[in-house]
Amino acid sequence: MPYKSGVYKIENKNNGRVYIGSAVDFKKRWRQHRNDLNSGRHHSQKLQRAWNKYGEDAFVFAVVEIVFDESELLTREQAWIDFWDSSKHGYNISPTAGNCRGVVPSEAARAHMSEAQRRRGKRKPHSEESKRKMSIALKGRIISESARAAISRAHKGRAKSPTECQNISKGKKGKHLSEEHCKALSTAHTGKGNALKTHCPHGHPYSTENTYFAPKTGYRQCLTCIRARIARRAAYTLAKKLRMQLGMDVEIQIPPAQGSDWADGFLLDA
Ligand SMILES: [Zn+2]
Repeated sequence: MPYKSGVYKIENKNNGRVYIGSAVDFKKRWRQHRNDLNSGRHHSQKLQRAWNKYGEDAFVFAVVEIVFDESELLTREQAWIDFWDSSKHGYNISPTAGNCRGVVPSEAARAHMSEAQRRRGKRKPHSEESKRKMSIALKGRIISESARAAISRAHKGRAKSPTECQNISKGKKGKHLSEEHCKALSTAHTGKGNALKTHCPHGHPYSTENTYFAPKTGYRQCLTCIRARIARRAAYTLAKKLRMQLGMDVEIQIPPAQGSDWADGFLLDA
């Protein structure tokens, strides 16, 4: 059964605080959490208190990443705990993945965790503003049925006014450049502008490893950004599938391409 295991979050819709966990079976785990919370015996006191205060409806369970290899679960969970800093700013009681489940982490997972802890010590916390931006950039949200219907309604049958049409038409007319003009432009631009840029618009270097030359145009493209795009698209498709398979609210988030730490390892095998 694919798409059953991975990392999830339980998010408080009122304040965006999250609980991060990993599960072999999302559905079962969510049922377990709900049972524990509703009977007041959840191991995370922080989450329990919030549950009591805001009520069940304030919380949403969402898949954050699908992990096919069970031995990778803790490592991936740790990455997301670090990402949201969910022991400090969220509902996890321990900054270390697996601690609260009483699972003894594997050798590899332990090495990763101690490395993650070392990094955490060095890292500056994100400002509220940058967190907000990240959150917007990261969300590969599946738009709800009602929202989609509303958008569709808004766009349907919206006719352009005659002036609008005229303006568009005017703007397009007479736009053909003479041959000389084209040549002049081309000469003027050789060795200037884009060709001189050393970094992509997101600040990744156009290095040999990070540059892709488009076959037809010869233009350079940033590989990090291409990968991020692919990952986002894959995540979107995956989220759709999951939504159908699990019948759950699914939201898949892709870490930003900008953080080099996060550039790799997120191509989902959709
Ligand atoms: Zn880039």
